[in-house]
Amino acid sequence: MTQTTTLPCGDPFHLANFDPSFSGNIEHKRQAKAETKDNMEALFELQARLYAENRRSLLVVLQAMDAAGKDGTIKHVMGAFNPQGVRVTSFKAPSKLELAHDFLWRVHRAAPRRGMIGIFNRSHYEDVLIVRVLKLAPEEVWRARFDHINAFEKLLTDNATTIVKIFLHINPEEQAERLRARLDTPGKEWKFNIDDLDARQRWGDYMAAYEEAMTRCNTPHAPWHVVPANRKWYRNLAVSRIVRRTLEGLNPTYPDPEPGLDEVEIPPVRWP
Ligand code: ATP
Ligand code: MG
Repeated sequence: MTQTTTLPCGDPFHLANFDPSFSGNIEHKRQAKAETKDNMEALFELQARLYAENRRSLLVVLQAMDAAGKDGTIKHVMGAFNPQGVRVTSFKAPSKLELAHDFLWRVHRAAPRRGMIGIFNRSHYEDVLIVRVLKLAPEEVWRARFDHINAFEKLLTDNATTIVKIFLHINPEEQAERLRARLDTPGKEWKFNIDDLDARQRWGDYMAAYEEAMTRCNTPHAPWHVVPANRKWYRNLAVSRIVRRTLEGLNPTYPDPEPGLDEVEIPPVRWP
């Protein structure tokens, strides 16, 4: 079991080699929470600059099995951002209209415009994951999508969008506990979806599909990160670190003020 969260392009992802309970050298939850809070304050400031700069954008793709914490990550980590500069898109089973187009049609529309941060709760990867596992399209159709995805992501990055792809990694034991908690806790029952048990039964097929998708689509312009997600506090910490590092790498800056601003006087107004 290793702690590595990224791999060199071309190296095969073997998810069994990643420990979902890994928590680094963090000894206390308290310590993780303190660093996460610090990262979130930095995220807020970095986003303000990205928004003001209005030249580049960030796309965070979240993929995971059910109950692995996509929603929790969005709430706890992405909650750092000013809502005005973020757009979360949740990709569900495609509508009739969406199915009448190519699989990237709905995804491209949701790509973040300049200055914005886009968060994908599930994504175009579903089209090589659930579609593959449930045989919703023939193999030659979904297999061709690895190249389509790489070309699409290159198009976005060539257009000033930085892409970070995160797989929240839990194991079936942890999922069982969380699904049970949904069944047993008033106020959480609504989150329980009987179809999740079907996906759970196909755990091995999903892991194989994830491994191939992540291996084929781990590009220099859009790398995959595996985040150990059995412990929520470590998951939040790891995601906050990845996003912070990425935004710091972009180092967005406030635009220069227009010349002559120091001579501007605010005229008095009498009212009423
Ligand atoms: P939660 O359960 O936390 O609300 P969720 O993302 O699981 O979040 P659901 O409405 O339960 O949301 O499920 C959405 C379903 O849509 C998932 O099973 C997902 O695999 C499926 N889905 C998403 N994209 C596609 C696609 N392109 N083709 C087929 N199914 C898809
Ligand atoms: Mg679900």
